[in-house]
Amino acid sequence: MFRLNHNLSILGSPGSGKGFYGRLLAQHWKVPLVTTSDILKKHAERHSSKSLDLESGKLADCQLVAGVLLDYLREQQQSNSTRPLHCILDGFPRTTLQIQIMQETWPVEYQIHGGLHLNVPDEVCREKSLGRRFCTICQDFVNTANVQMGDWDLPPTYPKLCSKACNPETDWVQRKDDVLAIIQARLAIHHEHEEPILDYFRRNNALYQYTPYKGVRDFDRLRLCAEEWLQALKVKPDAMMLSLEG
Ligand SMILES: [Zn+2]
Repeated sequence: MFRLNHNLSILGSPGSGKGFYGRLLAQHWKVPLVTTSDILKKHAERHSSKSLDLESGKLADCQLVAGVLLDYLREQQQSNSTRPLHCILDGFPRTTLQIQIMQETWPVEYQIHGGLHLNVPDEVCREKSLGRRFCTICQDFVNTANVQMGDWDLPPTYPKLCSKACNPETDWVQRKDDVLAIIQARLAIHHEHEEPILDYFRRNNALYQYTPYKGVRDFDRLRLCAEEWLQALKVKPDAMMLSLEG
């Protein structure tokens, strides 16, 4: 049985399916999936403050994001005293400043020492984002997009029974921000920050890239490849360099 011995960040464009694969990997490995946007939303509600701009490159915002996330990871660890708890993080780090703050202020056991990058082109992310729905009956995600482009073969996905039993007109809802203009803007912001983050993991020999051409049918292969990579992953946590250009 594979055991996750590092904190792993799942990286990829909005619409690449990182939440989807992250959830499946977490279930399979029996580790938590830590979704940064959810934690920050809860934090904002509790403190009745405005929700944080996750993508912001500003120091104060990055410090706040990294601080809220570290508090959350500590709480998780305290409720699990039997062994070090490793997790999969979705949505952190998003900027190199966040990496720097993590390295300077987080105890080493909470730091992220691996990046699993889902390599998915913008055209595919765009279609999948446009096809995203939430089924209010099943309380689960539906994706109506059928992407057939080149090597890509991503049929629609539904929760069990949903496509037969639920009514797309009334039961499936679309997020207000899953419209083309906002999707394009999200992708553009993502690409502004992406390369230095990939570079950070790459230069530390801690990056694994996977292209999930067949969506959910690629999951087992993705998992096995990721397990093999993680088992061979030898990081010296204290020596991970934040290597920026120049
Ligand atoms: Zn349903």
